[in-house]
Amino acid sequence: MEPLTIETARAAQAKPLFGMLSEELRAVAAFLGLAKYRAAQLADALYKQRVNSLDEITTLPVEVRERLTAEGYTVGLPQIAQSTRSIDGTERYLMRMDDGETVETVWMPNGDGGERGDGSEAAAEEEAEESVAVTREIQIPVANDNQDGYKRATICISSQVGCAVNCQFCLTATLGMKRNLTAGEIAGQVAAVLNRQRVRIGSGRGVETPSRINLVFMGMGEPFLNYDAFIQAMHVLRAMGIPESRMTVSTSGIEPAIRRFANEPIRPKLALSLNASNDAVRQRIMPVTRKWNIAALLDALHSIPLGKREYVTFEYVLLGGVNDQPQHAREVLALLAGMKAKVNLIVWNPGPGIDFREPAPADVAVFHRMLIDGGIPTFTRKPRGRDIYAACGQLKRTVDTPAALVEIATS
Ligand code: SAH
Ligand code: SF4
Repeated sequence: MEPLTIETARAAQAKPLFGMLSEELRAVAAFLGLAKYRAAQLADALYKQRVNSLDEITTLPVEVRERLTAEGYTVGLPQIAQSTRSIDGTERYLMRMDDGETVETVWMPNGDGGERGDGSEAAAEEEAEESVAVTREIQIPVANDNQDGYKRATICISSQVGCAVNCQFCLTATLGMKRNLTAGEIAGQVAAVLNRQRVRIGSGRGVETPSRINLVFMGMGEPFLNYDAFIQAMHVLRAMGIPESRMTVSTSGIEPAIRRFANEPIRPKLALSLNASNDAVRQRIMPVTRKWNIAALLDALHSIPLGKREYVTFEYVLLGGVNDQPQHAREVLALLAGMKAKVNLIVWNPGPGIDFREPAPADVAVFHRMLIDGGIPTFTRKPRGRDIYAACGQLKRTVDTPAALVEIATS
């Protein structure tokens, strides 16, 4: 049995409100004998004002706040325990949950290019900005208090503590699977980062309205193995003012969950981590392929209705000598023939104890060119925050960061 620490004891009693949708908040109000409009005030405080504690909910009378506290209710946002800043402006946060477990969340001012070419609002903006930057060398304007001068930012969030999928090239996999995050813990990472960056959305709290916020479920964990919490988190994030069209979920390929996802009335965009051009290579680097092979995954993807301008996004991590050769590019083209597909190439980010090598830059260029020539819109992701282990597949916990890196003190 696990020892009972103060943290686990507190977590056992705490009833976090953050993560509850209107119906659950109405049930809380009813349980406390409060008028119905109190539930709406709670939702506003949690999702628009993004309060950190019940004391801050000034729309509620003190007695009501005291009642909530006495019943064990808390706001329950994850706490930023540590933060590390990269030379490129990326910030990586270690987020501590109520029970002391930690995950990582990444703030990327100006994104990492992952949205390009997928027909979304975020993509259109990024492409427009990039062409302007190239042709006219216009600087992105610096808003008030916005030292990085970003116009939009992408937040990469985690869905589980660790991951059970065991992809051989991924650092998160080495943690194993510790537990699922709740919906409140998933969406709460975004609230904590937005508060930290003082981003205001709509009429909510914050000192500036710099930009567009895009979200990627690409941090630690496999969102489709924590499906219900992931979907609820998406609804909470919508309540925070971020539309689902600005969210992308990435999956390693959990076929039944892709089919469920296809039937969701409201869903973010989907990216499949293809990462290999045939089942033999994929099985080697992603053992989950033994359960659902590439053909089964592509078939499941076909069940998702696509908007007019929408593409199916495939992520492809280039591993030197393993999946980055011209014959692999030809196989990818054959696999995706006839699909409205877009490919994001990701140069593999090394991690301690992981036995792969980075692809040669010339091989990346040839691979990219071959896909483009084959008619597939292809983008090579900008590696963000590699120096602080904040890039894809490098998330493991800040405590493992080399000591030479500067840690920014946090509360
Ligand atoms: N579990 C989900 C989402 C998190 S991983 C998934 O696997 O899709 C997000 C992306 O990072 C995936 O496309 C994954 O293939 C990629 N990735 C994992 N480890 C990586 C590494 N070391 N270098 C580059 N990309 C990596
Ligand atoms: Fe899990 Fe994604 Fe890493 Fe695979 S790549 S181990 S699914 S987090």
